[in-house]
Amino acid sequence: MDYTLSDILKNTPISAPSQIWVGDSLILAEQVTLFLQEKLCSYNTCSVCISCSYIRQRNHQSILWIRPEKGYVLEDLHLVFSLLSFVRDTTDPFYFIFEKAETLTPACTNALLKSIEEPPTGYHFIFCTYHLSSLLTTLQSRCHVVRHKTQENDNTINRELFDLFTQKEMPSLSYFCKMVESSALSEHSLKLLCIDLLNFWTKQYLAAHHNNVPQDCAHAQQAIKALSALLENPIMPGSAPLLAKNLFLDFFLK
Ligand SMILES: [Zn+2]
Repeated sequence: MDYTLSDILKNTPISAPSQIWVGDSLILAEQVTLFLQEKLCSYNTCSVCISCSYIRQRNHQSILWIRPEKGYVLEDLHLVFSLLSFVRDTTDPFYFIFEKAETLTPACTNALLKSIEEPPTGYHFIFCTYHLSSLLTTLQSRCHVVRHKTQENDNTINRELFDLFTQKEMPSLSYFCKMVESSALSEHSLKLLCIDLLNFWTKQYLAAHHNNVPQDCAHAQQAIKALSALLENPIMPGSAPLLAKNLFLDFFLK
């Protein structure tokens, strides 16, 4: 599912305690700040009260911003765990914001998994990242993914899909489906993606043909056939995710 900031602020399903926000880091920082003001300001996100000022200065007592120098290390999490040991209630929420979640090491991620899956009452986690795919799938599966629709974001999704469709080996189908479902893949993006892929696979075919590698020729031909079939017909509004899944099956399962 895709949520825009206004959906999030309207408090829709996204009250999930553990979330991954995907987008450009500067934009996310601002959106997280607004989100926190919405949650913690008593005057309707006024931006001028003491609470809003503390949030904007990153000084608020109910928020821990965790931004590593290089990447997160286990020591960065000590404060998280000690804070989690305090009992809170839902009217007194606390937010942990990981600003560069893509730099969480597997050890850090694993240490956090249990707390993320079922945070103690009142605690919330927000993981910000530009690249969803750089987070461990164990983290992704325990969080609600919120994609922020920006131009950069669109490019990120297309880059990730391009990488998947240029592999010879079949990528994980469940990972692929999750990525497509959580992305804001538009008809236009899908079309551009197919054109880029068609270019790529035509070159691969010519190279394989030139080097006389029948197996590679066959895979490239299969790819070209699937892409041409998709591009031959107009892409109906809203159908891009389904078409991307069909393309995946045509690429890797036939
Ligand atoms: Zn305020």
